[in-house]
Amino acid sequence: MHNESVTTIPLIGPKQSKYLENLDIFTTRDLLYHIPFKYKDTSEIISIEELKKEREGTILAEVSSISNIWTRGRKIITKAKVKDSSGEINIVWFNQSFLTKNIKKGETFLFEGKMSNKSNDFSNPAYEKLQEKQTHLGKITPFYHETAGITSKWLRSRITWLKDKIPKIVQDRLPQEVLEYHNLIPLEQAIEKIHFAQNFEDIEKARKRLAFDEMLNISLQIERKKEEKLRKEAPKISKKRKSIEDFKKTLPFELTKDQETAIEEILEDMNFEKPMKRLLNGDVGSGKTIVAGIAAYNASLSGYSTVIMVPTTILAKQHYQTLEKLFQDKDIDVQLRITKKEIKPSKKPQLIVGTHALLYNTKLPENTGLVVVDEQHRFGVEQRSQISNLQNEKKVPHYLVMTATPIPRTLTSVIFQDMDISLILNKPKDRLPTKTYLINPQSRQKCYESIAKKIQETKNQEQAFVIFPLIEESEKIDAKAATMEYEKISKTWFKDIKTELLHGKMSEVEKNEILKNFKEQKIDALFATSVVEVGVDIPEATIMVIESAERFGLAQLHQFRGRIGRGSKQAYCFVIPHKTSNKIRERLKYFSENNSGFDVAEFDLQNRGPGEVYGYKQTGIPILKVSEITNYELLEQTREVAKYILDTYSDIDEIQDNLFK
Ligand code: ADP
Ligand code: MG
Repeated sequence: MHNESVTTIPLIGPKQSKYLENLDIFTTRDLLYHIPFKYKDTSEIISIEELKKEREGTILAEVSSISNIWTRGRKIITKAKVKDSSGEINIVWFNQSFLTKNIKKGETFLFEGKMSNKSNDFSNPAYEKLQEKQTHLGKITPFYHETAGITSKWLRSRITWLKDKIPKIVQDRLPQEVLEYHNLIPLEQAIEKIHFAQNFEDIEKARKRLAFDEMLNISLQIERKKEEKLRKEAPKISKKRKSIEDFKKTLPFELTKDQETAIEEILEDMNFEKPMKRLLNGDVGSGKTIVAGIAAYNASLSGYSTVIMVPTTILAKQHYQTLEKLFQDKDIDVQLRITKKEIKPSKKPQLIVGTHALLYNTKLPENTGLVVVDEQHRFGVEQRSQISNLQNEKKVPHYLVMTATPIPRTLTSVIFQDMDISLILNKPKDRLPTKTYLINPQSRQKCYESIAKKIQETKNQEQAFVIFPLIEESEKIDAKAATMEYEKISKTWFKDIKTELLHGKMSEVEKNEILKNFKEQKIDALFATSVVEVGVDIPEATIMVIESAERFGLAQLHQFRGRIGRGSKQAYCFVIPHKTSNKIRERLKYFSENNSGFDVAEFDLQNRGPGEVYGYKQTGIPILKVSEITNYELLEQTREVAKYILDTYSDIDEIQDNLFK
């Protein structure tokens, strides 16, 4: 039997196989790769007398009697009396009347569980008939993730059926020298040990091998993508140093050192006939737009067009305005494309700013030399694959991705794989770091009232954002909640200042009108759901309140916070949790005391794991069963191995397909 459908296993019919699909199990190998998430050592059998003292454990006992009883609440209880040489004990099970069919008087069973403190009975113990070879109890018992219709116990029995077929189903293709060098056991053995561990040393050895496979799989993906990149061609766009320097002089500000470095790195990459794939990672407000703008300008000087793609219409318009102004007296045709309309052709090099509408039905200009994607993580999965399709041709444009999501070093290569990275760590120097305060929910009113007072005192020169976090799945509910809160606050605590509400369910026209009014300072406080999270540039906004802050990862909160303090005035951020606990307070306290996006992201990464920080779906962080995605050392090790394998062997697909994952 090789890797076949699970239905080839006895007792797995269409019904069970449907259930198993919920666990991503389709084949016999998938089932073997469904490994335990914990173990329980039931190998120490104790006497009934000891059980009564210890209150929990495993006993080996003979059944003296067993029967079902109806309670007054019309529930079925199964009652049994069992005995060993030390004594006797009552067992009760609830709602499992079938047990009287499996457990018969006179038979000997292992029972494992806890004593009930109320009745002093052995309550709902796991059971297994004494046999030559124990499957479930009387040894180290594995526990599996379950799903409706599928129990751990059932999984154990089906995996046991596969036990002697493991060498046929699982094939280790890792080269022998790699196993030896890294002191790894063969994969067949690892899979057997992980399910049928005799001791904890077995488990450790098995996990070491499986973790290695998981990470090696990621490493192979990274290294293969890097190789592939080198097989593609891109236009070599030379660096027009003089014109760039002249252009910089016309800017209303001096570029920061990090911006300069990033520009150098980008122009260097583009001056090469292989495609650039670069991530520009810098905090909100660190000035990424101008970096992309200069890259686009440089491309235009050699006659190449640039396409800038952003996740929202609001942002597209904002970028369009900025760039249009920036290049007003340059030989560049700047266009906004937020619908599926065709791009108007032009004799000049073009700069097309648009949303994902650009990805569909729209022909990008023939001479496109650079594609920039801003806030890439905000694009949906499908759109992202469309974006990467742009890279699938042999001849491709250079590619720049920009994100403000702070990503610690431990994760960059996993998420961005074959990309090179430019960092903007320092913001323009006239910015004062935003002061953040954690506000006790009881002090909400005081907080709002003092904000209103401050705005009035400054003669409505300062402006505030009030953020109601919005989680995608519950957009409707949240929009409603935001509306209600808005109504309440604007009529009471904020009654003397001008307020407005902005949420995702509004039409583009409405949204734009409101943003325009906010920008023109006709509004003092803008209440918003997380539509403002991305990109909106309102330099005068100096105050932000974040409601229900605990619902978001710190990296995301940091993005909200980045909306303020973009001018030279001191900015203030008030973080108000809706629910609190010590843990929540600790996280938000850390956030309020730390201003670096990289630091707060690292904090969440260490304390809550990558899924919590970034969302698995959003970033495409792989979910690992054994290894930690943040295990940077193992990643480095396996990347060396991946390079070695790619250099030495030709059956790479075969090797990769057979890895544990
Ligand atoms: P982000 O990195 O979040 O995309 P932006 O590019 O929108 O940031 O820049 C934020 C603001 O900072 C803009 O108003 C921009 O004009 C301004 N800015 C960019 N670079 C500098 C600089 N070196 N000095 C001062 N202001 C700058
Ligand atoms: Mg931006």
